[in-house]
Amino acid sequence: MNERDSEQVARMFVEGGYTVTPDEKEADAILVNTCSVRDQAEQKALGKMGIMGRHRVRKPHVVYGYMGCMAQSRGQELFKNIPHLDVVVGTQKYHKVFDYVDGILKQRMEVRMDKPSLSLSGESVCDTEEEKDSQNTIRDHVTQKDQSTAFVSIMQGCNMRCSFCIVPDTRGKERGRPIVDIVEECRGLVEKGVKEVTLLGQIVNLYGRTEFDKVDGKSPFVQLLEAVHEIDGIERIRFTSPHPIGYRKDLVDAFTYLPKLCSHIHFPMQSGSDRILKQMRRPYKHAKFVEICQNMKAARPDLAITTDIIVGFPGETEEDFQATVDTVKQLEFDNAFVFRYSKRRNTPAAEMEGQISERVKEERNQILLAVVNELAVKKNEAFVGTRQQVLCTGLSKTNKSRLMGRTAQNKIVIFDGDAERMTGEIFDVLIEETTGFSLYGTAVLT
Ligand code: SF4
Repeated sequence: MNERDSEQVARMFVEGGYTVTPDEKEADAILVNTCSVRDQAEQKALGKMGIMGRHRVRKPHVVYGYMGCMAQSRGQELFKNIPHLDVVVGTQKYHKVFDYVDGILKQRMEVRMDKPSLSLSGESVCDTEEEKDSQNTIRDHVTQKDQSTAFVSIMQGCNMRCSFCIVPDTRGKERGRPIVDIVEECRGLVEKGVKEVTLLGQIVNLYGRTEFDKVDGKSPFVQLLEAVHEIDGIERIRFTSPHPIGYRKDLVDAFTYLPKLCSHIHFPMQSGSDRILKQMRRPYKHAKFVEICQNMKAARPDLAITTDIIVGFPGETEEDFQATVDTVKQLEFDNAFVFRYSKRRNTPAAEMEGQISERVKEERNQILLAVVNELAVKKNEAFVGTRQQVLCTGLSKTNKSRLMGRTAQNKIVIFDGDAERMTGEIFDVLIEETTGFSLYGTAVLT
């Protein structure tokens, strides 16, 4: 989601006549879009901004800014420890970043022409207010040549209150965009060559539940899937991340009659223990989660399921942890992101008794990762000898002499071919081997 928000901000700068550069030494404005999900991410963002401040010695006019979740939760406090910081913009104000930064930069450049010593003029800005309809401002893209996939933000915020999560505070209440706007955005992406869209939301399947009605028993999210499915040129649809609450029959059924829906869901489980799920304030039981996965596999037999799991949540006993390991084995996830629980400020879990030591968290992390990795390798080995439809996304990130793409199950496939001709195309690849996490094969072109 942050990536998508950053793209929106970048687009506004491009429209305003700026060039986006990945080289901070060249930049006149340096913006860090921050994540608050883990403490480590915040510490990294703080450290990075500190180091980047050195560019001001050489280029005194540079504007420094934080955007996103940490900006939202810490606000004004960020200016105290980072003297060179100019702009702090929260999660409902991405569309204002350009005006703030451009305003300060112009002021500095003007003053500098008269008196270079005064180049640090320009008021600092902190804007973390709520803004009605801000979800509708994340809608523009900066597409690259041959770009075949894109993220589309369909909602902002989350009304759930998981006890470990800071997102409801940083992103606000759930707010969905109208279906017509999302469809229009997708059509625009098709015109630029995009074939696969990933619909984004914190609890994506609950999209629109507070704004739009059900129609023929179908949730607003399923209505949206149907509308995007209608678009000529969209060949693949993904979404992330759904929540077990609201994962109802209409969504399961959608996988039986919407063939453009890819055979993969990223479905956060968090724990396999009912006791811990309750402590986490995740309002479902282990059995419900398992039932949804089984229904999904019945609806789409080649479905891959990946998940998120937290180990070492306060009060997690060996028995609770074992319940998680057992569920992972039972459901045979294709892969999982395993996180050691980390305290987030102002969340109920941070104050809970029974905090688990880092040593135990690390032990559980390693045990679970070993199980997850073994399953992932086994799952990938089952693809060897099969033909898979792959959307080629361009050069391999690790070996520029080869190409890469993804299967409908979201598996990475590496193969040889002509980047110019094959990027953005969907074709079969005969899978010949796997090294565990990637598949390797030969493109079968007709
Ligand atoms: S569903 Fe829970 S974990 Fe996900 S964003 Fe909402 S509060 Fe956070």
